[in-house]
Formats: sequence, structure tokens, C-alpha cells
Amino acid sequence: GDGIPEHLLAGLNRPQREAVEHRGPALLIVAGAGSGKTRVLTHRVAGLLATREAWSSQILAITFTNKAAAEMRERVEHLVGEEARGMWIRTFHSACVRILRREAEEFGFKESFTIYDSGDVRALIKRLIKQRGADIQGLTPGSVSARISKLKNELHDVDSWARTVSLENPLDAAFLELWRDYDAELRRANAFDFDDLISQTVFLLRAFPRVAAQYRKRFRHILVDEYQDTNAAQYALIRELTKPVTRAELPELRGDLPGASLTVVGDSDQSIYAFRGADIRNITDFERDFHDARVIMLEQNYRSTQNILSAANAVIGNNFDRRAKNLWTDSGDGAKIIGFTGYSGHDEAQFVADEIVELTSGGSMSYSDVAVFYRTNAQTRALEEVLIRTAIPYKVIGGTKFYERAEIKDAMAYLITVANPDDALSLRRIMNVPKRGIGPATEAALQAHADEHRISLRDAMRRVDEIALGPKVAAAIKDLAALLDEFSARPEADPGEVLRELMSRSGYTDQLRRSPDPQDAARLENVEELVAVTREFRRQNPAATLLDFLTETSLVAAADELDDSGGQVSLMTLHTAKGLEFDAVFITGIEEELLPHRMAAQEPGGEAEERRLFYVGITRARQRLHLSLAMTRAQFGEVNPAAPSRYLEEIPAGLIDWRTPPSTMRAPSGQRAVGRWRDEPRESFVTGYRDSPKPLPKAPKKEFANMITEVRDNSAMVLEPGDRIRHKDFGEGRVQAVTGLDKKRVAEVLFDGAGRKRLLIKIAPIEKL
Ligand code: ATP
Ligand code: MG
Repeated sequence: GDGIPEHLLAGLNRPQREAVEHRGPALLIVAGAGSGKTRVLTHRVAGLLATREAWSSQILAITFTNKAAAEMRERVEHLVGEEARGMWIRTFHSACVRILRREAEEFGFKESFTIYDSGDVRALIKRLIKQRGADIQGLTPGSVSARISKLKNELHDVDSWARTVSLENPLDAAFLELWRDYDAELRRANAFDFDDLISQTVFLLRAFPRVAAQYRKRFRHILVDEYQDTNAAQYALIRELTKPVTRAELPELRGDLPGASLTVVGDSDQSIYAFRGADIRNITDFERDFHDARVIMLEQNYRSTQNILSAANAVIGNNFDRRAKNLWTDSGDGAKIIGFTGYSGHDEAQFVADEIVELTSGGSMSYSDVAVFYRTNAQTRALEEVLIRTAIPYKVIGGTKFYERAEIKDAMAYLITVANPDDALSLRRIMNVPKRGIGPATEAALQAHADEHRISLRDAMRRVDEIALGPKVAAAIKDLAALLDEFSARPEADPGEVLRELMSRSGYTDQLRRSPDPQDAARLENVEELVAVTREFRRQNPAATLLDFLTETSLVAAADELDDSGGQVSLMTLHTAKGLEFDAVFITGIEEELLPHRMAAQEPGGEAEERRLFYVGITRARQRLHLSLAMTRAQFGEVNPAAPSRYLEEIPAGLIDWRTPPSTMRAPSGQRAVGRWRDEPRESFVTGYRDSPKPLPKAPKKEFANMITEVRDNSAMVLEPGDRIRHKDFGEGRVQAVTGLDKKRVAEVLFDGAGRKRLLIKIAPIEKL
């Protein structure tokens, strides 16, 4: 490591510096969160380039997400400038796609291959199951695809696996046939599934030694971040790329070349992808497979305050079977962690929004310094709703905003076609969702019939007998039209009921429910969340019709993008948060059933993995950490009592400043507190609020009151600083400032009882006094 410019070493502590300067075949850095692992990796890359030990093309750096890759590239470029160009900083998947495309000809397939996502995969398998006849009992598209995925991640192919199982088991035999068909179909379609990208690259590198040798010769330095989350196939890929190159393989070499130097950094406490086949044993295996490996530990944390770190250490300390770490910081205790218990997810969201206003109003923090985490995507709906109303710009990282999600658009399209039979756009959206055999040709025939007779598309569906279509398709169209007509005829019906019935009788929920794909489980949760929203809307507005609901919801859904010059608050799942850091972090929904998630808690090791996930969340925070939960949670279309997560008790009480403590902590010895809550008098929910510095504006039974109310558009309301206003939920207050233009105007209001709030004037339930 001679000659590494001082500016690349200056900001590093001793072990970090050692890690940057170390030269040798293999280096393993194991260290806790925020100890500078990624920083060391970045500086190592910069050092290799600055000393000209390596060209940028000789470096392969693997990150876990594309976002992390972009960040690392930016930092390296910042450190060494132009030199960084052409370097491969990629995720495993994108590196493999690159290799596969470049070598397609050599490997014997077309460069233009497509990549099947999980939806494509399941559609294909479904077709194959059908083709083989209904005799394959117990095999569903979901279970088959999950099993294929697992086996591919373990680097099995059809033939190798076939030799390991006894085909006397009819289920295994049937599965094998399907897998064979499936791979043949992929090959015929010139396509790969996601898992193929890695496993096929490994197989091909093994099968084509000359090609493999070229990559080994090329990549002299391979660095892997978040190493604890690599699976067997990814590990094999690393092994392939780091083998030595011999002249036998590559005659143009002047002599044999040693394998690339390999640096991996990881933290077994942050392993959160076991469900995707990640295996922490990779860390122990590393020391076995690369016996010359140098191991460096980092113990100083540079990210978080001591309070945050102590909470993290306490939580993760409850996982046994781990190497104890001694993470410390010299940055001081910092602010206490703030805790909050809301009546509902909506109430919790209001707390988050209020705190963000507080944190950012002083000017020391901007929106982009703030992140809100949750365990499941369905939780974002309440958060987004309040953020929109509070005029806080936000983005959903690695996901889509609630009302922009496909399943929510589908569900809304069903409602819109019921409310407005002439809306052809919505009708087209749901025509074949879920799949009912109405393809583009049929749709075109319907449209042609509609055009010819000057009737609506819906009418054409009703009159499908006039069109020459196959009997099956015609029946499907008739059924759908009848279903929609049935509800169109009942405009006064409870919108929540309408949605629930539509989703179930159309087969929409069934199709999601039957699929074991975790993504579909999430989609189902979102649909059910929407059902909960509509139900609650009706509860709040007993006379409201479906049309009222649609009008109000579309106002929120279509709230224009806010001015985001001050950045945006980041919303993301705990899984997506890995590797990132923010000045202020909110972890929401810290409840049993959510964290640990009820599915994960049932699996072996699941409870410990969920704890690691919580640990990952806590350790993202630099200065301010907020932990929140709700006493009731809308899920699966209904509002249920929720109990505080067992993990909350693991944080020493002195570290948390509870604004409103959970009224009862989880009962010991596995008894769930849920039952107790349900039976307790309602008042006890409120006890926490007596100590609240800010009196709460709302009574518990109005927990969703702020969400969706009567239809309004205030864009034209004139408001000026000094004006007095009354807000439906927050009471009276004085306008402090008005910013933004037209539909994006935002009022900052100091309420007499409820404190300072930001309101998007357009949709705020306010009147001038
Ligand atoms: P994680 O496990 O969460 O991925 P990490 O170990 O990769 O964390 P980094 O993200 O590299 O940690 O570093 C955490 C923070 O500490 C970053 O803001 C980084 O710039 C800073 N940091 C790391 N080392 C030092 C140092 N020696 N001096 C000052 N700041 C440092
Ligand atoms: Mg990192």
C-alpha cells in the first residue's frame, strides 16, 4: 500500500487504514453497523486507482442495491476523479446480466434475451401445469416457482437435482417434469428468470473455461459489500472469478496469474435475507476457503449517537449464537430516543408528520435528512395520506406510492367502472384482471362492436351475444358485465362492502391469496388496506356513496407533486434501508405481528432475523431516532387491536423518552397482550396522553377523522399570515406563513391547542374565521 495519497487515508482510524492499505489475496472485514465498512471499501477502490495499481476496468465492486452502487461510484469519483470511469460497480444481478449479454454468442444464446419477473414466471408455470393435466395434485404455480428459485439459488440444475431425489415420490417426480418443461420454455423464449442470471453465469463460466479465464484475467480486484447477504450461487460466482488463470487456459499470457484479490465486508448481525437463500455461513466459509485471508475488525461507530447505539446493542444482544461485538462511539449521548404510541396507524402517522415539521422548521435539517421505515408496504398508506395533507414532500424508495400501485389502481378501476359504467379506460384496465381469457383480440372485437353501434364498451359487453366469439370468452364477458351491473344498480351501497365483494367475486383476491409469492401477499395486504379505508370512510360519513368516496380519494391520490427544493422525506421498508443513513429516522409499527412479522415469526430462525431487521433500522439513525406503534392497526380489511413488539422491551427504559407510552407492555411468557387491550375500558388507551406535552386534538373514536372527509377543493381560498382559521380536527389557529402557488399552496398554522402544522390548503378541512 505504498504511495496511497494521504487524503485517502487521513480520515480513517487505525484498523480502517490498515484495511485500505492491506495488499494480499483476501481480506475480510467484519464489523458492526456504521463502523465504516462501506467507507473502507470505497477508499480501497480509490487507493487502487490513485496508485495506479489497477485500471478502473480491473475492478469489480459488488453492492446490494443499485442505489448503493450509484452512491459508491459518486464517492469514488469524488475521491479520484476521471480515473473511476469504466469501473464495474454493480449488483450481482446487473453484473451477471452484463456478462451474459456480452458473452451471449459465445455461450450459445441470443444477446437480446429477456428477463422474466415473478409474474411472468408464475404465468408460465401455470400454463405448464395446465398442459400436463389436472392430475398434478398439490402443485401450484407459486409453490413450484418458489421451489425452483430455491434450488437455483443453491446452484442445482434439473439434472443434478434429479440425481439427488428418489422419484418414487410422485410429487417430486411431477415437480421435476415441470421444472424440465419450464427451463425448456425459457430457453425457447430466449429468456432467463431472476435466479438464472446468477446460476447460469456460474454454469457458463464453468463450462467455458476460456471465457472464464478472460474475466479472471480482467478483474484483478473484487470487492463485495453486504457480504453477509450473499447466497450460495453468488458465493460460487465469486469463487469462479477469483481463481488463478493459467497459460493453459489463456495461451496469450506470459505466465500464470494469481487469482484476483478479494475484499469482502459484512456484519452477520445485519443478515436479513435468509428467505432469499442468503447464508451467514458464507462468512465462516470465507475464512476456510481463503485461508490466507486477513481479518480486520472495526469497532468504532461513526454514525450514531451513544443512545442510539446502546439501544441497538441491547436489542441485538438478545440474539444468541453470534460473535459479541463491542461497538462504541465518541460522539456523545445525543438526544434521547423518542417513543410514541398512537391510537391508530393514522394517529401514529400524524405524530411522524408533526415531528418532521418540528425537526425541519429550525433549518438545521432538511426533508432529505429524514427517513421513515416500516415492515410492510401496506403501512405506507396512512403515512402517505398524512404527509400529503401536511404538505411534506416524500418519495417511496424501492416502491411505489400507495395510490400508484398496480393493485390499488386495479381496485380503484373496479370501483370507477361500477360508479361510471361509461369509463372505458377503467373497464379496459380490469377487463382481463384477474385473467379471464379476454385477450387483446377480443377486446378489439368488443370495441369494434361498440363503435359500429355507437354504444359504450360496457354496452358492447352486455350485448356480447351479437358478436361472434368463442362460447368460453363470451361467457366470461357476460359474467363480468353482470357482476359490474349488479353493483352499478346499487349506488347507495356501502363502498367498503362493494369493494370487498367485487374483489372477492371477481377472483382478484383469490388469485393473490393462493399465490405463495411474498409480493402477492403484500399486494393482497394493500388491497385489504384499501377496503379498510373505504369502510372507515363510510363509518365517518354514514350517508356517503361510492361516488363521494371516489371523488375524495382521487383528490388525495392526485395531490400534485409538491415543491421539493428542500428535498424529500424517504419512505422505505426496513429491508430497503440496509446500508443507508439519515440524520433522523422513524421506525413505525413496532408491534407484534408486524415486527416480528407474523409470517417470519413462524419460521425457524425467523424471530432472530426479524430482530436483526430491527437492528438494521435502529442503526440507520445518526442523531434522532423515533420509535412508534399504534394500539389499533387496520389490516386485512379490518381494524384490530395491536400489541407492542417484544423487541421494544429489550431497549433499556432510560434510553427512550415516551411521549405516550404503550399502555401495557407485552405480557411475559408469550402471552399476548392483545386480549387484554380489547377488554380494557377505552379510557385506559388515553392514559399516556396526560403526560403529553401537547394536548391531543382528537378523541380516540375519531382516529380516522382526518383521513377522508367531504369533498372539497380549497385552491381558491385566500389566506394570509395573521388570519385566524378553524380546522376540522386541530381546532382554531393563526396562519403564520403561506408558501407555494396555486394548488400547491401550503399554510403554516400555529394552532391554539395542537401546535404547529403544515397544511396543503387545497385539501385541508379548514374555514376562515
Ligand atoms: P453499515 O453496516 O450500516 O453498512 P458501514 O460499516 O458500511 O455501515 P459506513 O456507511 O461506511 O459504515 O460509515 C458510517 C458513517 O460513518 C458514514 O457517514 C461514514 O462516512 C462515517 N465514517 C466512517 N469512518 C469514519 C471515520 N474514520 N471518520 C469519520 N467518519 C467516518
Ligand atoms: Mg455499509
